[in-house]
Amino acid sequence: MNDVNTHGSNNPDSPLVVIAIGGNSLIKDSDHMSVIDQYRAAGETSRYIAPIVNQGFRVVITHGNGPQVGFILLRSELAKGVLHSVPLANCVADTQGAIGFQIAQSLQNEFLRQGTRKEVVSIVTQVVVDENDPSFANPSKPVGPFMTEKEAQQHALEDGWAVAEDAGRGWRRVVPSPAPLEIIELQAIRTLVDSGALVIAVGGGGIPVVYKPDGTLRPRPAVIDKDAASCLLALALGASILIFSTDVDKATRNYATPEQADIDRMNVAQCRQYLDEGHFAVGSMRPKIESAIKFLENGGKEVIITQPHHLEGALKGIYGTHIVP
Ligand code: ADP
Ligand code: MG
Repeated sequence: MNDVNTHGSNNPDSPLVVIAIGGNSLIKDSDHMSVIDQYRAAGETSRYIAPIVNQGFRVVITHGNGPQVGFILLRSELAKGVLHSVPLANCVADTQGAIGFQIAQSLQNEFLRQGTRKEVVSIVTQVVVDENDPSFANPSKPVGPFMTEKEAQQHALEDGWAVAEDAGRGWRRVVPSPAPLEIIELQAIRTLVDSGALVIAVGGGGIPVVYKPDGTLRPRPAVIDKDAASCLLALALGASILIFSTDVDKATRNYATPEQADIDRMNVAQCRQYLDEGHFAVGSMRPKIESAIKFLENGGKEVIITQPHHLEGALKGIYGTHIVP
């Protein structure tokens, strides 16, 4: 195949963009939650990412798994008495495999169609958390499908679930979400990025693990926020741009109220002010804004929040919310 182009250079001078694909953005609505629907959504998102690679950006992809990890957990619980249950860390690992493969294959097919030579690799990633992180006693990360308050309270009563209202969209199960501290496979990810590969990593925030005193690793039952893990990875790789590809066009002030107003551009000081004023809901937009602040205060140049179909335009400054230092 001599006519194959080599795009998306591995030139270390070309800007590195970390694109965090929202787990919720892979699910269009409650009628489109199946594996095939998610595969289609991953394919669609990939079609918007490939042109970014072709423009010469180095791209690293991360993804969420909130809805998907909840589905696996629920399936495991429904199978109680028939099959072993699946520990939460394994649910995360399962979603990394499944979603990582879907995104990787979608991109591989897209590059093939375009005649672009590009290695795409999805890495099962472990992320270290603190055994004593307060979130283990205070679950906050929404997972699984949306429920009515009545259904949620019933699960809380009968199944011991922790439940919470999610950004005015309904009730969901919540699980512990400790802060990510270190990416175990970082050096391997770096080597692959340097070799010119498009890497998919820290899926679902990474599999939560802790260090034992002897330095060995053990899994822990939690789901790390993918926004925080994406920020950690972006900083560790020295990325200049961090994009949250989610299911809303822009971050807004007064979200879901009659005074809702799009935010086109804001700096870190404005982010802090809006956070203090409570404009960004816990467990959804808030972690993106908190991660944006961390990224920009530690060397990142720009954070963009937008929908998959606006990715290319957003990088050109046309769509989305742009956050700068
Ligand atoms: P993802 O899977 O992409 O992380 P989330 O559901 O966690 O998606 O975050 C995106 C959601 O954040 C939106 O669908 C919206 O309901 C919610 N949200 C909360 N506050 C805001 C806000 N101020 N502006 C925009 N969206 C918000
Ligand atoms: Mg989220």
